[in-house]
Amino acid sequence: MAFEAMTQRRAGTSFHLFFTMNPQEYYRRIQAVVRPEQLHGRKVMVIGLGSGGSRLAAELGRLGLDLCLVDRPNERLEEHNVIRHLLDYRSLGELKTQAVAEWIRHRNPWTRVQTLDLDVVAQSEQLAAALEERHPDLIAVCTDNLESQFAVNILAVQRGIPEVGAAVYDGGVGGEVYCVRPAQACLGCIAAHLQLQRPEPRTDLNIDYNQLDRDELRSVGALNLDIEQIAILQTRMALQLLLGTATDLTGIPPDVNLLVFANRTGNPPLNRPLHAEFFRIPANPDCLICGAPMRTGNAGSGSVAES
Ligand SMILES: [Zn+2]
Repeated sequence: MAFEAMTQRRAGTSFHLFFTMNPQEYYRRIQAVVRPEQLHGRKVMVIGLGSGGSRLAAELGRLGLDLCLVDRPNERLEEHNVIRHLLDYRSLGELKTQAVAEWIRHRNPWTRVQTLDLDVVAQSEQLAAALEERHPDLIAVCTDNLESQFAVNILAVQRGIPEVGAAVYDGGVGGEVYCVRPAQACLGCIAAHLQLQRPEPRTDLNIDYNQLDRDELRSVGALNLDIEQIAILQTRMALQLLLGTATDLTGIPPDVNLLVFANRTGNPPLNRPLHAEFFRIPANPDCLICGAPMRTGNAGSGSVAES
């Protein structure tokens, strides 16, 4: 089987790439671990195309998953992004969604990639409509703030769509990856537990209050390798959730819904370097997001919950 591909590199240029893809040859070196048909066409919505989300999207894209890349409108690659991002100077000024989609198409032309520019907090109705239309098998939450992670969580829980999210701790000392499976603990339940576990936020940040930049304030200080380490763990958990028991890529029991990884040593649970701690956090029956009323009443209704 061959795949004829023609890629227009970017609008406004006449550069075209013509080639023939041979999927058997392309997938040859991974077949012993995972069969392409186990993942090809499985639908994942990736929300947030920053340093972490771009790495996750790239890995899933290589494997032929059907991707919808979501980021805020007009979210473009800036120079201060380049040192930690998948993309490089060639994509400066481009929309991150479209530039990452192009990166993936050059690796695996078989991968179906769509892009969606919307703010998941301010445009939750549009996100709900996109979820109804696409019915993703999984949402990868790769945004850098709890507000957007919760906005996604509410819509995902209502529709029974699994989520895998991640966060990198300030200074890059470590990070966490959480999984929300249908009818199990949601991000609200997990976050309540995390408040007891998270390292204390740093208080020595030098913030210039005359030049307040929302992105700058939200963005944690961390090296690329600190972020990439957590993003790859998130990707692994996402793949495991999609593969189920058919193929084991982690050895992690299926009821684990949180891992905390130490890039460096710090306060517990980061007291062992390059080590992960695993948690099974139960659903709170009284949780306003995933508690009994949500599971028996509004589940699947398609309505947008009010905060
Ligand atoms: Zn909950």
